[in-house]
Formats: sequence, structure tokens, C-alpha cells
Amino acid sequence: MSGTTLVMYGKATKIIPRMMRNHPITVNGLYGSNDIRHSIDDLGIVNVLTQWRGSESGQSGVILMRIVMLGPPGSGKGTQARIISDIYGIPVITTGDMLREAVAEGTEYGKVAKEYMNRGDLVPDDIVNGIVRQRFSQPGIEEGFILDGYPRSTSQADALDEILEENNQKLDYIIHIVLGDKTIIDRLSKRRSCPNCGAIYHLESKPPKKKGYCDQCGSGLIRREDDNPDVIKNRLEVYREKTRPLLERYKDRGLIKEVPGDVKLDELPDIIKKLLG
Ligand SMILES: [Zn+2]
Repeated sequence: MSGTTLVMYGKATKIIPRMMRNHPITVNGLYGSNDIRHSIDDLGIVNVLTQWRGSESGQSGVILMRIVMLGPPGSGKGTQARIISDIYGIPVITTGDMLREAVAEGTEYGKVAKEYMNRGDLVPDDIVNGIVRQRFSQPGIEEGFILDGYPRSTSQADALDEILEENNQKLDYIIHIVLGDKTIIDRLSKRRSCPNCGAIYHLESKPPKKKGYCDQCGSGLIRREDDNPDVIKNRLEVYREKTRPLLERYKDRGLIKEVPGDVKLDELPDIIKKLLG
């Protein structure tokens, strides 16, 4: 088995490199294709994994990674969360996306949330906490999770502690992304998002291949309401006042890992692997 090489195709296989950590199979490459399940079956890799997982003293042998992303708006939390998700095969839980969905669907939560989001203000905690609590009652986070955009305030952090305790979970890392205001304003005002798949672009540093359209799914790109310059300044103010104090809280627990927000994208995986192991 040692020296076997598995070539990976696509996001469906994200879980595998994580399951295979410390295991003598080399994993190479990440490419888009939905047929990976068949490819894996053809290679017999699923069986290998199943045997390996069952053979480790009843445990999966997987190291849990329960992560909170913390940093000002525009510091690249979402991007870094996706990279961590790809490396370790754990899901990103994005309250921002969940809220936007609620707004789009016009649910009761969504209607209230919309007014706050359009002003660049924080959505009331009881709404956000309710959404997160619901998510933690659903499957898919047994091997860890990455919270992006939550908690954003002391009372949300209190609620998160409660939710984690209810689910016999705890946090392993806080990834704190460090970046200055000037860079943030430049970055956010030139940011474009895909309303369909959530992909993020930047007009200068990460333009889509076809102007105005998503590389991944072909949908038309938008500038989100909360990426307008005036709204950005308000968001930075709100961050300083409400979210930044959380750093003290988690520093006391020894959970914080700092990542610079201005490194090149392709350097991030190595930085993150060095930090988290
Ligand atoms: Zn897309």
C-alpha cells in the first residue's frame, strides 16, 4: 500500500486528504470533475480508506479541527476558510451566506436581517444564533468545521460557547487574519461575488477569466451591497467596536493563530499547514 498514488479530482474528495494524514498514500493534485466517486471506486481507494478507518482502535484516527476565522471584513477570511476546508476536508459554516439565503427567500428571519445588512450593521444576535444552533444540529461537522463570520460579538461568542457545550464540542483554533484598513477598503470595493456558488473575485488581483462572469458556474458576478465604500467604512467601525474584543477572550484560552492577510494566495496553504500541522 505504501507508495500508492491517488490523483484527486474535485471538491467531492476534500475529505480524503484529511482522512489520509499520517498514512502512507501520496495524494497529488486537485482538479474539477464530478466523476471522482467513480474514479475512486475504480482505484479501490474507498476500500483502503474504510479498512484504515476501522483498524485504528475504534477511532477514526482523524484529528478534529474546529476553527473560528476572525479578522476585519475584507481580510480574506472566506478565502482562507476555503483553503483550510480543502486541506483538511472540513466544511465552512458561513453565517453570511445563510443570512443572504434567508433574505433571498424572504423568510421571517430574512426580512429583519435585510434592513440591517443594507446599512452595513450587524444582524441581531438572536437571529444569527438561531441559524447557527440549527446548523450544529445537522450532520456533517463530526470531523470539524470552520466558522466564517461568526461569532461577531461578545454575546454571539457566549451563544457559541453554549451551542458547543450542548453538542460536546470545543474550539481548537482561532485563525486571526491581520490586515490594515487601507488595503481592506481597496480590496472590498473591487471585490465581485458570484450570487450562485459564492466564489469571490477581485477586479485586479483575481479577475474572472471572462469579464463579469463566474469561472466556476458561469453566473453573472455582482458587487454586494455591503461592499460599497461607505458601507465598508461602517463595517470596519462595527468590527473594531464589537468583534475585535473577542481576540482578548480567545487569547486567554491560548487558541489564537495569526495569519497575515496580505500574502499571495498560493503561499497560504503552506502557511496554514505550518500553523495547524
Ligand atoms: Zn459561481
